[in-house]
Formats: sequence, C-alpha cells, structure tokens
Amino acid sequence: MLSLIKFPRVFSINQVPKVYHEDSIISGYRHPRSSATDCILSLFQMTNETLNIWTHFLPTWYFLWKLVTVVLMQQGWQDSFTWPLMVFLLSCCIYPLASSCAHTFSTMSPRARHICFFFDYGALSFYSLGAAVVYSFYAFPDKWVNSSFHQWYIPIATANTVVCTVLACYSRLGFPFLQYNGDFVKRLPGNPSFSKFFRILAFGYPCLFDNIPLFYRVFLCTGDGCTDNDTNILHYKHIGLALLTGFLFATRLPERLAPGSFDYIGHSHQLFHVCGILGTHFQMLAVEQDMVTRRPWLTANAMPVSFANSLGPALLCVVVNLIIICFFSLPLLSGPACQKSKEGQNKKKAATKVCSCY
Ligand SMILES: [Zn+2]
Repeated sequence: MLSLIKFPRVFSINQVPKVYHEDSIISGYRHPRSSATDCILSLFQMTNETLNIWTHFLPTWYFLWKLVTVVLMQQGWQDSFTWPLMVFLLSCCIYPLASSCAHTFSTMSPRARHICFFFDYGALSFYSLGAAVVYSFYAFPDKWVNSSFHQWYIPIATANTVVCTVLACYSRLGFPFLQYNGDFVKRLPGNPSFSKFFRILAFGYPCLFDNIPLFYRVFLCTGDGCTDNDTNILHYKHIGLALLTGFLFATRLPERLAPGSFDYIGHSHQLFHVCGILGTHFQMLAVEQDMVTRRPWLTANAMPVSFANSLGPALLCVVVNLIIICFFSLPLLSGPACQKSKEGQNKKKAATKVCSCY
C-alpha cells in the first residue's frame, strides 16, 4: 500500500534556505515549500524531522489518556484537590502536541515555520506553569508550606511564563515591527548563538525557578519537615532527565562530533524530545504519589486549592500566551509576500532566494 504513495523527495542542507538549516544536520531536509499534505505524508518517510514528530506525537496520547482518566473516571473536576494535577496533565498534553505539529508543518514556508515554533514555545511555557501549580500543592517540603515564598510562588511562576514566551519568540526574529527583517528569514541579529542563548535563558530560567522547592527538598533540606519520603527517588529521576534534556539542547551532541552521521536517527533534538518526555513521565508519577501520600497532611496544613490559585492562573497563562504569539506573528501574516525592493536592486540575487520569499 505504502509503495503506491509517492513520497516527497528530501534535500541536502545546501538545497534549502538558511532559515531551515540545523547545525551539523546535512541531509534529510523536506521541501522548503511543502504542502500540508506533503507535511503529513512526511510522517511516514524518513526525514530529519520524522522522529522529532513521533517522539512527541505518541506521548501526547499517553498524557491525554492520563488526563481523561483523572477527569472522567476519578471525577477530578468535582474534587478541587485534584485540580492542580489536571492543570499539569493538560500542560503535558499540549506541549508535545504543539511540538509535533510545529515539527510537522514547519516546512510549509519560513513564515509558517516561525509561527509554528511560536506556538511550540507558548506550549512549553504553559507546561512550566503546570509544573509550578502541581509542585505548589503536592511537592513543596513541609517546612516551606505556607511560607511567604510559597504564597508568591504561583504568581511569580505565572509572570515567568510571560517572560519565557516573550524571550523565546524574541530569539527567532527579534521584536516585531522593530527588528523583523523584510524576508523574515534571518534569525535574530545575525549571530545564531545569540538566538540560542535567549532560548536557553527563556526555558532554563522558569525551569530553575519551578524546581527551587524540589531542589531544596531533595538536595539541601536537613532535619524535620523535609518531606523525605519514597517519592524522592522519582523526583531524582525526573531531575536527572531534565538536566540531561538541557545538556542535549545546549550542546547539540552527538551530531556536532560527526556532522551528517545522525541526520535521521540519534541527533540531539530527538534525544532532547525523548529525555524531556521521560522526565515528564517521572515528574507525573512523582507528583501523583506525593498527592496521594501527603493528602491528609496537606489538607490539614496547607492553603486550600481554589480557582484563583490553580485553574485561574492556567487560564490567564493561556490567554496571555496567545496574545504574545499573535503579537509576534502579526507582521508575518501581514508582511509583504516578498522583498520587492531587494528584488529590484538585484534580480539575480533575488532569483536565488526564490525559496525564501513567501
Ligand atoms: Zn522539538
């Protein structure tokens, strides 16, 4: 059956515009002006994006199944104590789904690519808030429950999502209306490492902030009130995988050691997806276990879960993130089809850039 389907051809790095280039990935690029159908067909052929897509698409269904189980079977919506878990599980469904969609449709055009990844960043930012909400109600060490830091933890995490999404979107093309260049192709001010620095900062900062109570609980706390229980081993696994995820993103290993050897299987972005999802899986197991085992103590001693400190911040985060994404996307949707002036000045140069201008 598959032999009857004509798959789109793949290209080498020199055959696609620079906006599509990935460090040390030499082959397996899809057409830079793929149709939506070609993008979907590419799920079933080997390109340098195929495993990036599947490593997040399949886990989306796993987390959706977990969410449905909590919402419908355990009737979580009737029990406010489970609302933080629902927010977290929703964020665990959205971020791999947004990522797999971004990787699938990012080759429709440079504009589509930027917008796809703006949504990807917004979804990751929402996940960082989901983690903060669930930590706040289930994972905070006994000692810190109801402290000033605890009371400010979710408001700060909500504000962090704004910083995270703005910085991550900024890392692609700069600020809309001020810094976007005419063809929307070049990344932020020339130097790719500049973009990468902003993106690492955008996701590293909220991740570190969210994990402050957990780091304190599992690495620093001594004496009573440290919540030193069986769940800590799951938290260790999650933290280990989260560090590995960050390391892979920052170093782009192993493909930097052997450019071209890991184009289809084994490059850092695939490993980054796998480690990130496995980390989220252990994070989910840990917070579920904390939720069940600590419930009597938390119900008696911690602030109660309400709309204002769980579902409300999540809703606010979604709305604000969508506004930010629209703000960064608007010039891409309304911008000129091609940079006419450049074309007029140098027709030959414009002709070589035909794939970059749409
Ligand atoms: Zn990705």
